Amino acid sequence: MGLLDGKKVLIFGIANDRSIAYGIARQMKEQGAELGISYAGGSSIERRVKPIAEELGASFLEECDLSDDSAIEALALKAEKKYGSLDCIVHSVAFAPHECLAGRYADTARADFLTAMNISVYTLVAVANKFERLLSPEGSVITMTYYGAEKVVPNYNVMGVAKAALEATVRYLAVDMGKKSVRVNAISAGPIKTVSAAGVSGFRSMLPVYSERAPLGRNVDINDCGGCAAFLASDLSKNITGEVIHVDAGYNIMGF
Ligand code: NAP
Repeated sequence: MGLLDGKKVLIFGIANDRSIAYGIARQMKEQGAELGISYAGGSSIERRVKPIAEELGASFLEECDLSDDSAIEALALKAEKKYGSLDCIVHSVAFAPHECLAGRYADTARADFLTAMNISVYTLVAVANKFERLLSPEGSVITMTYYGAEKVVPNYNVMGVAKAALEATVRYLAVDMGKKSVRVNAISAGPIKTVSAAGVSGFRSMLPVYSERAPLGRNVDINDCGGCAAFLASDLSKNITGEVIHVDAGYNIMGF
C-alpha cells in the first residue's frame, strides 16, 4: 500500500529529469499517486517532457504558461473534465532574468523585479485561485522555496526577495484555503544542480560549502524533495499547513 494510493496530483515544473518536480513526481508515483503534468511550453520542452510523462504513466499532459491567466483557467477546465477533483498540486516553478542573479541586488531593474515576482510568486496565487474549486477537502498545495528568502545568499538577489514573498504567500493562502481544509506548504530545498540553479552566478561553489557545513555533512537531491512532498501530499501531514519545511541536511540551523 502506498501513502498516496487513490490520490490525483497535478505537477507544474518538470523541465527535464534533473528538475526537482521530476524527483517529486517519481516519489509520488512510487507511493501510488495518479499523476498529471503541466509544462511551460515550446516544442523542445514538449519533446523532453513527453517521455518523462510516459515513464511516469501520467494520465494528463498539458502545456500551460503560468504567466497567462486565461491559459491557467483553460487548464483548470481540462483538469476538471479529466479528473473531476484533485488531491494535490505541486508548484515547482520560478524564473528571474539571468542578469539579476549576479552582482548587486540594488541594481535590479524594475522590469526584472516584476518578472521574478510574477513567475516565481504570483503563479502560485493564480494556480491556487483557479484550481481551488477542483481541490478536494484535505487537499494539499506544495511549492518550492530556498533559504535565500531568509538570509542573504550572494547573487541570489531578486530571487531571494521573490522567495520571501512566496513564503508569505504560503501563509496567506493557507488561511484562505484552510476554510476548505486544503493545506498549503513550502519545501525549502538545499542547492541542487538544475537548469534554474545554474542561472545563479557562482552556484557550483555552493555545493561543497553546504555539504561541509550542514549537520548531516552532505548535499540533498531531487528524491529528498520528493520524499518530503509525498509526505505533504499524504494524510500523514493532515494538520500541517502554512509551513516552510527545510530539506537541506540541516544547513539552515547553523549560526557558525
Ligand atoms: P527547473 O528544472 O529549471 O524547474 C523550473 C521550472 O519552472 C521549469 O520547468 C520551467 O519551465 C518552469 N517555469 C518557468 N517559467 C514558467 C512559466 N511561465 N509557466 C510555467 N512554468 C514555468 O529548476 P528547479 O531547480 O527544479 O526549480 C524548481 C523550483 O525549485 C523553483 O521554484 C526553484 O526556485 C526551487 N528551488 C530550487 C533549488 C535548487 O537548488 N535547484 C533550491 C531550492 C528551491 P521551462 O524550463 O520550460 O521554462
